[in-house]
Amino acid sequence: MEIVIYGNEVLAGEAQPVRVIDAKAAKLAADMIETMRAGKGIGLAAPQVGILKRLFVVQVADDIPRVFFNPKIVQESEETTKYEEGCLSLPGIYADVVRPAAIRVHAWNEKGKPFTLDAEGLLARVIQHELDHLYGVMFIDHLSELKRKRILKAWEEKSRRGTSASASLGGGFRA
Ligand code: ZN
Repeated sequence: MEIVIYGNEVLAGEAQPVRVIDAKAAKLAADMIETMRAGKGIGLAAPQVGILKRLFVVQVADDIPRVFFNPKIVQESEETTKYEEGCLSLPGIYADVVRPAAIRVHAWNEKGKPFTLDAEGLLARVIQHELDHLYGVMFIDHLSELKRKRILKAWEEKSRRGTSASASLGGGFRA
């Protein structure tokens, strides 16, 4: 699948619930896992492949790939952490984002089975990053306006020069 790049309005839209988790929905999730891996990302939300549905996939390090249909964060820690994030839809751009350190998320898997997951560390972070995508929120929206403008300017310049995304793999994760 093709990953949608920042500027496309689908990334600013609000994703709609998935009414039926059937074989077609499971196939979409499987295709998204493949796309995430191909992009060397650790997470991918449906709007990032142009589909405004409440679905994302995540795979952190040696963990199994996880599928989240209609996810909802039901609890989050008061403790926050700062970590450098990047986004497959904003290639080459990284910035520190502050988020709750731990969360409890409720969702349905690719078999249509509901589950609740307690997550911390990188897993908690990427889940929050992906959930944001379902509301049309990018990680740079968490930054101050000044910082966001500066980062977007650098990104536009980079895009103009034609520096490919893979040329700047350094920095934080991509999701
Ligand atoms: Zn992202």
